[in-house]
Amino acid sequence: MKINRKICKAGLKNNPNKPLRGIEYVTIHTTGNTAKDANAKMHADYQFGGSGTREASWHYTVDADEIWQSFEDTSACWHAGDGNGNGNFESIAIEICDNDKAGFALACGNAAELAAELLLRYELDISRVKQHFAWSGKDCPRELRSGVWGVTWAEFLEEVKNNMAKDKPSEWAKEAWEWGVSKGIIADDNPKLNITKEQAITMLYKSRQ
Ligand SMILES: [Zn+2]
Repeated sequence: MKINRKICKAGLKNNPNKPLRGIEYVTIHTTGNTAKDANAKMHADYQFGGSGTREASWHYTVDADEIWQSFEDTSACWHAGDGNGNGNFESIAIEICDNDKAGFALACGNAAELAAELLLRYELDISRVKQHFAWSGKDCPRELRSGVWGVTWAEFLEEVKNNMAKDKPSEWAKEAWEWGVSKGIIADDNPKLNITKEQAITMLYKSRQ
């Protein structure tokens, strides 16, 4: 899906102005801002303006309609409450807007799509999706942790996995992939996941017939 960009400038107080040590995790938050107009674009504008000089920043904000990116994936942001820890310095942060209870499930769906895209891009598995809670013990993403707005954390992770499975094979692999599917050698899902030795030998074995 489309990612709108409004990348924050260096030097502002909300910007650590440092690169991530590595891209190892995706951290999920909810904004905790229930004002009606507190959608993804508003948060993008807020960060672009320096987050009101707070040391608060994150990479993506997602609502029911849009995704806005505020920092490059390779930049550190202040979102995890763990200082120089792995949350702030090894993870990409996604904030899900909770300004619209009726649209919350849609916003979570968009966030799941984005999380899946990031996991695939950086070759991470589903275990690398973390709650803000995991880094600092804060009750965030609050509505997902309690399930009080109709989407549970387990359902969110399931949706991320579904989106990863929907991924299409690369152009260079397409012909071989379609051949494998048509011969019943591989299932038509998860083209970018690693396979085990037993899966590899089974595929070879099936291809003999
Ligand atoms: Zn949070």
